[in-house]
Amino acid sequence: MATYQAIATDYDETLAHDGRVDQPTIDALLRARAAGLATILVTGRELADLLNTFAQPAIFDRIVAENGAVLYQPRTQQLRMLSSPPPPRLLERLAAEAVPVSVGHTIVATVEPHEHVLLAAIRELGIEWHIIFNKGAVMALPADVTKATGLAAALDEMGLAADRVVGVGDAENDQAFLGMCGLSVAVANALPSVKAAAEMVTKRARGAGVIELIERLLERSADVVHRGAANHRAKTEGGPVAMNTTRFPAGRGGSQSPSCPRCKRADSSDEESQTGSSARWFVCNYCGMRYTSPKS
Ligand SMILES: [Mg+2]
Ligand SMILES: [Zn+2]
Repeated sequence: MATYQAIATDYDETLAHDGRVDQPTIDALLRARAAGLATILVTGRELADLLNTFAQPAIFDRIVAENGAVLYQPRTQQLRMLSSPPPPRLLERLAAEAVPVSVGHTIVATVEPHEHVLLAAIRELGIEWHIIFNKGAVMALPADVTKATGLAAALDEMGLAADRVVGVGDAENDQAFLGMCGLSVAVANALPSVKAAAEMVTKRARGAGVIELIERLLERSADVVHRGAANHRAKTEGGPVAMNTTRFPAGRGGSQSPSCPRCKRADSSDEESQTGSSARWFVCNYCGMRYTSPKS
């Protein structure tokens, strides 16, 4: 019988809803740890952004950030960069084209529909980078960086094998790490493609789905620990689910400060123009996205 040693979970729209994790979800993760399961967060967010948003990082044994480029151990605050910074030419090119970006240690993040400009820049510069989607978010990274490579680095540090890990997620960029786990789980609000590939689909959405998963793991209920039965459940329970595809509050009202294209908050700081261009740039105080005001 398979026994699992760790749970690896995505953050946004898996644990969290609109960036926030409910206390019952945190409590479930703490129960999992108390029962001996290691906890690993695998997020596309930049680490600083995550730590600004989520106040309890120490409930995780490891945090994989920037979609696999950064590995962090909350209790020791040890930080490992798993890849190199973006080529300056790429950033210059995106700034020249007024693409809103947030730049981490490695990751270059933007939002749809700017993937077209991003892809054209990668092609024309001849750099070996790829584009990964996370619902409406767009991330560019070196071609060899995914959530799977980040999780592999975390497991290597912890001395754990991937087939002893339960992975749970909701979006395109989770497929890579879900595929390497001993049990792959999609929350009820996951994209249809993610549900189709997962071995189990939770009945409930987001954090409630993670609670459901942890409760089943702790009960060692047979349909979770046996892969075959889990596959069966995924097929029988993975039917039509009302999908909430509204990811962001609608509308960027008529306020003076344009809202952030990524998190939609209208809480930004003006950035001094460094290029002498007439465009007015803003930096989102919430998520760090750098963007220009719409042309008037
Ligand atoms: Mg997600
Ligand atoms: Zn923002």
